[in-house]
Formats: sequence, C-alpha cells, structure tokens
Amino acid sequence: MKLSVGRGVRVVALVLLSLALLGAKRPGNLGDVVEVRYWSYPDYTRVVVELTRPISSQVRHLPANAKAQRPERLYLDLDGVWVGRRFADGITVGDGLLEGVRLGQNTLTRTRLVIDVEHYERHRLFTLTSPHRLVVDVYGPRDGGESLTWPEAGDRRNREPSRLPMEMRPVQTVVLDAGHGGRDPGAIGVGGVREKDVTLSLAEALKPRLEKRGFKVVLTRSGDRSVSLEERTAIAEAARGDLFVSLHANASRRRSLRGVETYYLDEDYARHSLTLAARENGIEIADVDDLQRTVARFRVSETSTHSRRLAHLVHGEIVEGLKRQRRPVKDLGVKKGPFYVLFLSDTPAILVEAGFLTNRAEAKRLADRKYLEAVADEIANGLNRYRESRSQVAARVTP
Ligand SMILES: [Zn+2]
Repeated sequence: MKLSVGRGVRVVALVLLSLALLGAKRPGNLGDVVEVRYWSYPDYTRVVVELTRPISSQVRHLPANAKAQRPERLYLDLDGVWVGRRFADGITVGDGLLEGVRLGQNTLTRTRLVIDVEHYERHRLFTLTSPHRLVVDVYGPRDGGESLTWPEAGDRRNREPSRLPMEMRPVQTVVLDAGHGGRDPGAIGVGGVREKDVTLSLAEALKPRLEKRGFKVVLTRSGDRSVSLEERTAIAEAARGDLFVSLHANASRRRSLRGVETYYLDEDYARHSLTLAARENGIEIADVDDLQRTVARFRVSETSTHSRRLAHLVHGEIVEGLKRQRRPVKDLGVKKGPFYVLFLSDTPAILVEAGFLTNRAEAKRLADRKYLEAVADEIANGLNRYRESRSQVAARVTP
C-alpha cells in the first residue's frame, strides 16, 4: 500500500495504533499466525494462512472505494487469533489478480485478514489440519502480472486461452509425485526400507519410460527433499498437468498384508481407507472427517469420472502386466480415498500404493530396482492406454 502521508503523521498514527492494541495485554488462550504463503495459478491465486489453532471463518467481499482510494477486497475475521503487528506492512502479491495480503489485529481477540484484489470473480475457502491452515482461492481474470510464482503457468495460459472440455483435450503432461521425502520418510518397512526412497526410485524409473512414449513429465520432487502437500498440488496446477500420479508404498500392522491398490478422489469413500488417508495426508485419523467434508465441497464429479477410469486402467496394467512378467502381485483393487494431493481443480489424479513395506517379501521387492522398473513399465502402459482412450473420444467429437 502506498501511503502519501508525511513521516511524522505516520509515526503518530503508528504510536496511537500501538497504544490502542498493546496498551492492553494480549489476552490468554489466543492462537497465532505462523506463516502466510501464496501461489499464483493460471486461473486463481491461493492464499494459505497457517495458524496454531483450528479456525472457521467466512469470506466477506467489499467493492472498491475510489474516494478512500481502497481497492476491491476480501476480508476474513479470525476469532481467537493474535497477530499483533507482525504483518502490518502487508505482503505484496502483484500477480495481476491480487495486489497483496494484509493481517492486522482487529480487536484484542480477533485478527482480520484482508486480501486486496484487482479483479474478483469468485472464491473458495477451505480449512486443513496438521498444521491448521486456512486456504482462500481467489478466481478472476488476471492481467499482465509481473511476478508469477510459476512462470510456466503464465506461458501455458497464453498458449491456451480457454481450456477445452476434458474429454477433448490432448493428454501431454504427466505430473509424477514421489510421495514423502526429506524430513518425512513415509512408512518404514522390513529391513529399514523407507517409503520415500521407494517412491523416488519408482518416479525416476517411470519418467524416461513416459518420455519415450512422448509424454512430457514434471516431477514434484527430485532428490530427497521435503515438499509440502500444498507445494505438490501447486506444482501440478502450475504445470497444468493433464494427469497426476502420486506414488506411494503401503504399511500395515498386519505383516501378512500385501498387494497393490490404486486410489482416486471421490466425494464418497470407504471407511477402511481412513488409516491410510490419515497417514498419506500427515493428519490424525480423527481429522479425516474434516478433510472428507472439504472434499465434499469440491466440484469433483467430472474429474472424478476420469480419475476413476485412469485408476482402473493403470491398476489393471499393473496387476495383469506383472502377472505376464512372472512377477504376480496381489490385487487389492481400485478404491476411493480423501487424499489431499488429489485435490486438483481440473486434472484426473490417482494415488498408487505399490506394495506393503511391512510385508517381508514385498519390502524386498520394493527395494529392488528391477522390480520397480517392471512396475514402472506397467504404470506407463496404463497411462498410455488412458491417453489412447481420450484421443479416440477427441477424434469422435472433433469434426
Ligand atoms: Zn505414502
């Protein structure tokens, strides 16, 4: 915000504000703002506020006020949250859609989050736990933003001003998400095999196989890096991936449990996948219901049909293909689950649990590069079959 006031005036104003806010002590039992982050996507900008306590809030919209020189803005009141003056200077976004984000102490027990918007169309709001986050996605036309966080997203948008219906879009870019990494090892299996290593090896085996078939491949991580779930979805959205495949390995207290299962996101879900959903989302089982409610608020139906088809094709190839390769694997089926990384606005997305690290025989297989290459061959076959099914439809509907 540009303030055209003299320095003296500003100092006086600051002192008064500080007295008003800090003259009284900070009340007890308030939560704090940990961090504010944002990502610019082609169609929207995401603002994430991380907090130390759960919060429910509402987005309110204020039109621009020319007289007061205030832009159009959205605001949310965060009751029971203390921010003091930490973010008083605001955070400049300047991506052509949002001007910036400000947080201030509105009352002694309430923080107000203000999002200054250039062009507002609509928004969506959801909350996540572990850690507690408030996520606001602001949609609107974007004009000539200078500082897109993901430059590729801007490029792609220019080439593709309006997205075709999914059925008619060619399938080119696959986003491969090697689960976990860095500080988060994922499941630890028999003999100390770490899920994060298995998923990365599998992604690395899959990448050249897909490229050979003419797919463009984007990885959410290369190397042993910590990547948050938001970052993973951010990379997928920014790359405008046509398909998203998250790679994982399973764990169970029952050592005998083994086999491959493939998940897709759906409003509906099976109770038995809750433990897995909690683990893969890095949350407590008790919090899965909240996540499920969030899923229900998403418009997933169109994408969900495609995700289901993609899941069945990939899963079928893994099970049948490995049998042909004389490496039979137990078929645990295609399932629905509320996985955060599958919350993509417009991309068929699946999560493959390639085997159980807690089963001795499967842990040994999953630590073996040759086996992972065999699995990668079959996942590539499945993705290829899905691409073929889409291009047939596109050929039918395109004159
Ligand atoms: Zn995992």
